[in-house]
Amino acid sequence: ADLAELTAEVSVCRACPRLVTWREDVARDKRASFAGEPYWGRPIAGWGSETPGVLIVGLAPAANGGNRTGRIFTGDRSGDWLFAALHRVGLAAQPTSVHAGDGQRLLGARMVAAVRCAPPDNKPTTVERDTCAPWLEREVELVGGSVRAVVCLGQYGWDAALRTLRSLGYDVPRPKPRFGHAAEARVTAPGGREVTVLGSYHPSQQNTFTGRLTEPMLDAVLTRAAALAVE
Ligand code: SF4
Repeated sequence: ADLAELTAEVSVCRACPRLVTWREDVARDKRASFAGEPYWGRPIAGWGSETPGVLIVGLAPAANGGNRTGRIFTGDRSGDWLFAALHRVGLAAQPTSVHAGDGQRLLGARMVAAVRCAPPDNKPTTVERDTCAPWLEREVELVGGSVRAVVCLGQYGWDAALRTLRSLGYDVPRPKPRFGHAAEARVTAPGGREVTVLGSYHPSQQNTFTGRLTEPMLDAVLTRAAALAVE
């Protein structure tokens, strides 16, 4: 399978009954608020370069962000923050990501969600997390050969990335490296290539409004990832 097939397959996944109901209910209830715009209401695929040096791992699409626009971190406040930072450090062509047809491009980077459907309260269950894990594994199998830095947004992204890499045969240190902002863990791909896993606080409103995550803090992690990608 190639990336186009993976994107097509995940887009019609209905494996988690609670999330299928939620994503479709939100789409039905909120469509009127975004009159005239298409409302996705389905799983969101990975997006960006097919040979990324930087892989960005988030939690799940926001109900009215990725779930609405069909593109990860697009059309919500977290995405506004993230794309502004990606643009500042040269990983995105534009400073905003508004809708799937806005011309935005990631430069040498790819974004994926650990869980591909919007969960209520941004909290997937453990079963939902594990049910969705193979999509991330398949994507990393397809694009991982070029990746030098994995940027994990929040503890959830960190855990998902390390779990995925370990299941694909990467040598991940034990005990599992601890998440923190600007935390770094070196993992070794089968074949010996080194990959650096970087932690960042999630650019959620909860973190950005309170100043727990500032623009310079996010820029520093993304700058480090971009530098690793061209080493
Ligand atoms: Fe499928 Fe993942 Fe969505 Fe569950 S969360 S329905 S496994 S795409």
